[in-house]
Amino acid sequence: MCLCAAGLLSNSQRVNSKTNMASTSLKDHEAAMQVAIDLATQSPFCAVITNAISGKILAKGVNATPSNPILHGEIVCMNNYVSLMGNKNWSAIILYTTGEPCPMCMSALIWAGIGGVVFGSSINTIKKSGIAAFEYSAKDINEASSFSQTQLIGGVLETQCDALFLNRKKFNP
Ligand SMILES: [Zn+2]
Repeated sequence: MCLCAAGLLSNSQRVNSKTNMASTSLKDHEAAMQVAIDLATQSPFCAVITNAISGKILAKGVNATPSNPILHGEIVCMNNYVSLMGNKNWSAIILYTTGEPCPMCMSALIWAGIGGVVFGSSINTIKKSGIAAFEYSAKDINEASSFSQTQLIGGVLETQCDALFLNRKKFNP
């Protein structure tokens, strides 16, 4: 079934090109990011997934590493999406995350063929807040993928997201 797999890949890439984040207004990006920010009562790392065209919120995720080390906010959100919507239509959705995705999450998002990724705080700010982070940026990981790349925007509601990280002592561990 190698031909099948190859067909799926090319189909995914074709659909992927239809998601154009440049056609989404900054206001709409900010509205989705605000939903992610509003989730941040227990952890600053939160994410939502939207339908790229309608902006409808399809899934949510909050970091759950106290229960499982790989459950970063983005991964929880991707799992929530699969539970609610099935493992499909990845190219037609956008993930919004309060913090720049780490290499693990960025790789997972690229493997999924997601249509776009939008983040608030940069890895540098996350590091400044005292949280350990890799030196690789989301852009580094995206550009290192020879098979597929996603659209990437950073700095949406950055001030509000930065406050989540820099003031995170108010959260539980
Ligand atoms: Zn991560």
